[in-house]
Amino acid sequence: MASGGPRVLVVGGGIAGLGAAQRLCRHPAAPHLRVLEATARAGGRIRSERCFGGVVELGAHWIHGPSQGNPVFQLAAEIGLLGEKELSEENQLMETAGHVVLPSMSCTSSGKSVSLELVMEMASLFYGLIDRTREFLNAPETPVASVGEFLKTELSQQVADWTEDEGTKKLKLAILNTFFNVECCVSGTHSMDLVALAPFGEYTVLPGLDCTLAGGYQGLTNHILASLPEDSMVFDKPVKTIHWNGSFQEAAFSGETFPVLVECEDGTRLPAHHVIVTVPLGFLKEHQETFFEPPLPAKKAEAIRKLGFGTNNKIFLEFEEPFWEPGCQFIQVVWEDSSPLQDTALSLQDTWFKKLIGFLVLPPFESSHVLCGFIAGLESEFMETLSDEEVLLSLTQVLRRVTGNPQLPVAKSVLRSRWHSAPYTRGSYSYVAVGSTGEDLDVMAQPLPADGTGAQLQVLFAGEATHRTFYSTTHGALLSGRREADRLIGLWDSQVQRSRPRL
Ligand SMILES: Cc1cc2nc3c(=O)[nH]c(=O)nc-3n(C[C@H](O)[C@H](O)[C@H](O)COP(=O)(O)OP(=O)(O)OC[C@H]3O[C@@H](n4cnc5c(N)ncnc54)[C@H](O)[C@@H]3O)c2cc1C
Repeated sequence: MASGGPRVLVVGGGIAGLGAAQRLCRHPAAPHLRVLEATARAGGRIRSERCFGGVVELGAHWIHGPSQGNPVFQLAAEIGLLGEKELSEENQLMETAGHVVLPSMSCTSSGKSVSLELVMEMASLFYGLIDRTREFLNAPETPVASVGEFLKTELSQQVADWTEDEGTKKLKLAILNTFFNVECCVSGTHSMDLVALAPFGEYTVLPGLDCTLAGGYQGLTNHILASLPEDSMVFDKPVKTIHWNGSFQEAAFSGETFPVLVECEDGTRLPAHHVIVTVPLGFLKEHQETFFEPPLPAKKAEAIRKLGFGTNNKIFLEFEEPFWEPGCQFIQVVWEDSSPLQDTALSLQDTWFKKLIGFLVLPPFESSHVLCGFIAGLESEFMETLSDEEVLLSLTQVLRRVTGNPQLPVAKSVLRSRWHSAPYTRGSYSYVAVGSTGEDLDVMAQPLPADGTGAQLQVLFAGEATHRTFYSTTHGALLSGRREADRLIGLWDSQVQRSRPRL
């Protein structure tokens, strides 16, 4: 171990990287620690922006399962970011099984309002089938490969028994289509046909009614950042290549050799004993061939290729006056001509907005009223290529159609996320895709060198895509960062033990 403690570099300043850094810098081994962040801000996919006279979340929105077993909830509670309601026992004990809360208002594309009773009936059919996917957990074989195929096979059988008139049957299918699109947003995928059936039930839902952080989710990552030693965070420092399994010397550390050398885009070369990589799976998919030298072992490279990483975006629309009823929390949009049992040809230009599931009504800001639309998949990625004006125009038309009011005022302004175009993210979050298993998430987490030869724990991996049961969440990311910090601490502690004289 080097004098002055081991040199540790954390690549990525999202909640995983920050969580790892916080735990490491509190350890008596006193590591020399740097967090290298490609962009000019900390938080990564936790991104709160001051806008419309309030705060909106471009990334993570809810604490999923806010209860004692959730470290994000615990931290937010500890530092006073949650209100009385979120902290209440009642809220923490609520079991939602991960089902999305029902809309307050559901409208069709021709401006008719859909009875909430019918929406509820379709929701219970849909989520009943989603719950049944657990039957295949750890099954050696499944009748079909994907969640989407399973849902559609089961649905087709049920539809055959429907006795209503054709119009009602069509409407029921259109409502179900919206629930498929909701599930695409939840899983961050283009289609549920891409999501593997057998491991789907491994994703674990904690108890608690999902809650938001009124002052902004980023308060959490800002708090962790403030707890790190001064100068440990380096912004605008994209890492280009991690050279590992080497013996690197640097003029600044004469006589010392390091197994890892981190080469940054700006040419800086930083030697280290250990590197914790927390970059998103989307970034790894695009850059893994050049990001590691020597290349990753075949098994890890394959896991990166096979796991899914899709796009879910938000589109915020600001209005001077609300056109919705007071107390309305979610406006669901149902496209009358759609059905999960029919494949529609993809003409993104003309139909991208039909993937939008509807609009969450944000609590009113000082002088404005804001809706937040959610859209996943290729349509979401296409939306990123359009101008603000084009998005505003399309969504105004959607809102005029669903409200049946051709005079509905155009929104005052629009703000949206573009996670697929973000060069250091390349999408929103991961899922277990057809062809991959939960085991691949574990493989993602395995440190290098994998064969145990050479210096130990040279490259470690954290980030949401390395957590087997909480992938795609902030709590999964935070736990993964702490897990890798503990892995290093375990190594240092065992080295101290070994160097202690035996009595
Ligand atoms: C639209 C959206 C909605 C979401 N909603 C929720 C939600 O409601 N609840 C929830 O729990 N989760 C939600 N999530 C997921 C959650 O935000 C993520 O799982 C979590 O924040 C990921 O944290 P991370 O540290 O693993 O990765 P990130 O936050 O992505 O951090 C990785 C960091 O690495 C940096 N980086 C990348 N490449 C390099 C490089 N070459 N060199 C240096 N730095 C690099 C990036 O800039 C980034 O800052 C949502 C995500 C999105 C996009």
